[in-house]
Amino acid sequence: MTEYKSYRDGLPDKAGGRRPAAFLDRDGVLNVDHGYTHRPEQLEWIEGAAEAVRLLNEAGYYVFVITNQSGIARGYYDETAVESFHAHMRDDLVAHGARIDAFYYCPHHPEGIIKQLAVQCRCRKPGPGMLEQAAREWPIDTGASFLIGDKDDDLAAAATFKIRGIKFNSQIDSLPDLVRRELANCSNSQDRRPS
Ligand SMILES: [Mg+2]
Ligand SMILES: [Zn+2]
Repeated sequence: MTEYKSYRDGLPDKAGGRRPAAFLDRDGVLNVDHGYTHRPEQLEWIEGAAEAVRLLNEAGYYVFVITNQSGIARGYYDETAVESFHAHMRDDLVAHGARIDAFYYCPHHPEGIIKQLAVQCRCRKPGPGMLEQAAREWPIDTGASFLIGDKDDDLAAAATFKIRGIKFNSQIDSLPDLVRRELANCSNSQDRRPS
């Protein structure tokens, strides 16, 4: 795995070494949702995706992808395929100066055909399990964190985890503009916070 130097290295910490996180849904937010997208040649970026991730990197945010991948439980593809797809996404972003810190995916679905994955889990959105896992593994400042998703289930996961959830529609919204707006909101509210 590639080692990524943190952009925030050397910058002062505002929350005891913690950094805010941007949780990004994958299909329909970063890449075009072709339905159970998993082959590298199916990777079609949403316009401005790399720029949006780069803006978050530069603002000192962790960037996490959180994605339901019930295609694994359904037997359409396996975990190796998903991980290869994510490696491909990550490498392509690095080539554009953008960094994803970690990918989290839920392989479950109650109606799956792979027996051990055919379960009701906490990680499948609307559950907050993937956000909770990220918070266990990274020093996240949840107060300034937010999630961007294209479905109500994404926003429900954010609500349960008590962070802001923003609905994105790639047909009408620009992802970099949305990120710029959100970063401006966050820095305004931080400026108003007593230090
Ligand atoms: Mg989606
Ligand atoms: Zn799950």
